Amino acid sequence: MEITPKEVLQALSVVIDPDFKKDIVTLGMVRHINIDGNKLSFDLVLTTPACPLKDLLEKGCRDAIRERLSPDFIVDINVTSEVRKNIFMQGTLDGVKNVIAVASGKGGVGKSTVSLSLAKVLADSGAKVGLMDADIYGPSQPTLTGTESYKPTGVQGKDKNLMKAAEVGGLKVFSIGYLVEPGVAVAWRGPMMSTALRQFVSDVAWGELDYLIIDLPPGTGDAQLTLCSALKITGAVIVTTPQKVAMVDADRALQMFRMKGLTVPVLGIIENMAWFETPELPGRKFYIFGDSAAKKLSEQSGVPLLGSVPIIENLSSDTHKGSIIENNPVLPYFKEIAGNLVRNLAIQTQHLQESQTS
Ligand code: ADP
Repeated sequence: MEITPKEVLQALSVVIDPDFKKDIVTLGMVRHINIDGNKLSFDLVLTTPACPLKDLLEKGCRDAIRERLSPDFIVDINVTSEVRKNIFMQGTLDGVKNVIAVASGKGGVGKSTVSLSLAKVLADSGAKVGLMDADIYGPSQPTLTGTESYKPTGVQGKDKNLMKAAEVGGLKVFSIGYLVEPGVAVAWRGPMMSTALRQFVSDVAWGELDYLIIDLPPGTGDAQLTLCSALKITGAVIVTTPQKVAMVDADRALQMFRMKGLTVPVLGIIENMAWFETPELPGRKFYIFGDSAAKKLSEQSGVPLLGSVPIIENLSSDTHKGSIIENNPVLPYFKEIAGNLVRNLAIQTQHLQESQTS
């Protein structure tokens, strides 16, 4: 059974990535082919470790080898990933490949809980992830991550001194709460807030990151605009609750990212506290606020609904008690949501690259 790497590539070129609508060979996802008798191995390089298409693509490769080369090969596929640096990011935050802002039209919808859960699921999948708490009105990541007593120390950066992030649960975390007493930042206005926020982001030693998740202040004012334009955000996520009034605010946040001069791609909507279940009736979902508002917003805006998260009865009291970094009751809901998010981001990155090279 004498075959060459070229024949392997030819066989694999029938496997199409459904997101990029191109074959995996053209996309450069097949690397390091090794043939030893009837043993064949190669790397399948995905665009994110959280790729929801992993199993589908791996199966596609096995089928292609069996059908187009020989059923006798023992195939060893090493699935790895290489998150691409978004071209928006050139020139900002050196080692950071993607910045995802988590926004909400108003406070209390679960934006911080969602930010942490997204960051944690992505880190658990193998990505390098940072979480920045920029919510000047109520920084809650120190509590949620159990880092209230963290005091940032200085480290020498390339051309300036930087602050070290806290490291917890596989994440690098930094919060405005580490620097200012509660309540002080809220008094910042206008230029002072702009300067402080901009500096705050770029003065942290993030190192190499695949994703930096930013927990934005709630609302659609100056603070959000400043951060988004200073940072060249690769994509934004809108968190909302299902009530109709919350949707009006969520829509406003969505429009903010589409404002002239900002144009941040909105990668999706996450609906939090969408339904309630009781232990007496497992599996029965009670949509106490209705179940159509987020879908409607998604349809009207053309922004995908990444997923919904139920009301978890004891989450508030757990949060109140402290960290949910290791024992987060909403985390299981975020595997699919985060997968959808980074999938949309990878498609966005690919489109951008194609539009730059064409
Ligand atoms: P925001 O950042 O939008 O102000 P938080 O993440 O701080 O929102 O959440 C506000 C409150 O709601 C917190 O007490 C949090 O524990 C609670 N909460 C968030 N998501 C859920 C949920 N899915 N189920 C129950 N409580 C939740």
